[in-house]
Amino acid sequence: MSFVFISHPACALHDVGDEHPESPERLDAINDRLIASGLDYSILRAEAAKATRKQLYLAHDKTYVDKLFACTPKEGKVQLDDDTTMMPRSLEAALYAAGANVMAVDMLMQDKAGQAFCAVRPPGHHAERDKAMGFCLFNNIAVAAHWAMHKYKLERIAIVDFDVHHGNGTEDIFFDDERVLFCSSYEYPFYPFNVGPGNAHILNMPLPPGTDGDGFREAVINQWLDKIDAFAPQLILISAGFDGHYEDDMAHFRLVETDYDWITRELKQIANKHCNGKMLSTLEGGYAMSALGRSVTVHIKAMME
Ligand SMILES: [Zn+2]
Repeated sequence: MSFVFISHPACALHDVGDEHPESPERLDAINDRLIASGLDYSILRAEAAKATRKQLYLAHDKTYVDKLFACTPKEGKVQLDDDTTMMPRSLEAALYAAGANVMAVDMLMQDKAGQAFCAVRPPGHHAERDKAMGFCLFNNIAVAAHWAMHKYKLERIAIVDFDVHHGNGTEDIFFDDERVLFCSSYEYPFYPFNVGPGNAHILNMPLPPGTDGDGFREAVINQWLDKIDAFAPQLILISAGFDGHYEDDMAHFRLVETDYDWITRELKQIANKHCNGKMLSTLEGGYAMSALGRSVTVHIKAMME
């Protein structure tokens, strides 16, 4: 089955200024590298639709969603937390980012695609049920999971988050929902700092600064792979953050492209066994432009093969 790359031009309209690492140029870096690699010619592209309020209400409190609609500035900016800012076009970008994830679920569940990557921003995994945080407005991967459970009645979804930061928002949204197995690897101690121990279906995997591919792979093998396999997911979702790359100075991991290739292939094997290869990956962090483009390219290639 084919692979689909979902995005929307509006995802580049959220622009909080030249000094901010979460910039529209991140999407250009991904597209440029996909074209340079030749991979662009063999993938299906789809343009996202906006998520509806009802779809967002599945993952977020109604009052929170409505507040973001109400506080969009006509000009200037609204500061939601220390590093999360709303500009006039931010809400529009966030609606397409979440909507891309809804579309990806629809295409996978209706057998229109086998795997999907959502090249979207703002990212989502720090956004909690009722709180914007860490560059994130809506939790895109949580919207995808909730949509898959709501519309297609799925009962077992694995979410793997290999961003260098803990997916606190995703944990918050699914902490009491055993239909979701959430696996998050992250540098610790590091932002967002006060991470709890998780529970039987929230598998938090803190790793020290300086963690390289060997340390990362060993931890994934020892702590995750058997548990994901035993969970027998009906769909595998990935919060794909590439800020653990050694060229990325946002944090202090030393991962390289082959590590992202490796984990993607391991997850693909589990997807092949339990869910006909179905995987949905959505962009989270990754701020070193060249490393981001290269890493996304190997990640997509590994999902396709
Ligand atoms: Zn991150």
